[in-house]
Amino acid sequence: MSDLNATPNTPSTVPVVRFAPSPNGLLHVGHARSALINWRYARAHGGIFLLRIEDIDITRTRPEFEQGIVDDLVWLGLKWPEPVRRQSEHFEDYRAALDELRKLGLIYPAFLSRAEAAAIVRRSEVSGRAWPRDPDGAPHYPDIDRKRSESERRRRIAEGAPYAWRLDMECTIKGLDAPLGWRENGAGPEGETGYIVAEPAVWGDVILARRDVPTSYHLSVTVDDALQHISHVIRGQDLFAATSVHRLLQEILGLPEPLYCHHDLVRDRQGRKLSKSDGDTSIAALRAQGASPADVIAMAGLPPAS
Ligand code: GLU
Repeated sequence: MSDLNATPNTPSTVPVVRFAPSPNGLLHVGHARSALINWRYARAHGGIFLLRIEDIDITRTRPEFEQGIVDDLVWLGLKWPEPVRRQSEHFEDYRAALDELRKLGLIYPAFLSRAEAAAIVRRSEVSGRAWPRDPDGAPHYPDIDRKRSESERRRRIAEGAPYAWRLDMECTIKGLDAPLGWRENGAGPEGETGYIVAEPAVWGDVILARRDVPTSYHLSVTVDDALQHISHVIRGQDLFAATSVHRLLQEILGLPEPLYCHHDLVRDRQGRKLSKSDGDTSIAALRAQGASPADVIAMAGLPPAS
């Protein structure tokens, strides 16, 4: 990791970092790496390490996973101030940000179901027209809903049609005063470092509030990083591309810009990133097999605790 000491554009006087897991599975060695890098950074710089529970997906979140996260982190020797921010307790904050974007005319109600959107994509691809995909490989949302008139939107909503909220990406980017980027103090998957030019357009019209959940990952993570005065966002390289969306949301919502540091991931023998469904590398399983915190730290590719 290179220089993390540049001054971020956030109000905190000491570094504030966070580890922000989603309680939808067991933590694995990759999570331990991320948590420990954050923790060690805060310790080395007189900063504050926060734990944030990203539990907006209430259908996949389970209290025992949250307890498991806490147990594993305590076992690794980490501490954090209480109360922990649990995103499901702060839907009002995300709703306020969404309202602001709505007033700016930058979001629109998206009525297509998953299946309807997928069918449009499939029809296009079958007829030989390539469909744009985001960095995670998901097809961009079709532009049908973006093009609907205001009166039609109102009519559909009045009729009780379910809808999500999506960002009008093109319109949002057009409204920017200057090109957008961030200071990368780690590296992207291709070794990108230094000043990175943001490319939010590659994500298409990202979802900001779901039909069943009044927010989304992109919106809540951006709002929380600002509300918690996070000065250094230190997280895995798998979220490097998402930073373009977060920078865009910060810019339009007038939120401060933290420094970013994306670190490399722990991979399995086949070179794949670890997943929560792969129980073998869960910290809980390793603990049960008798591993020590020092063993997990070594498996996470980090030097021993000093
Ligand atoms: N909750 C996200 C995850 O578990 C991490 C969010 C972030 O660090 O920005 O992958």
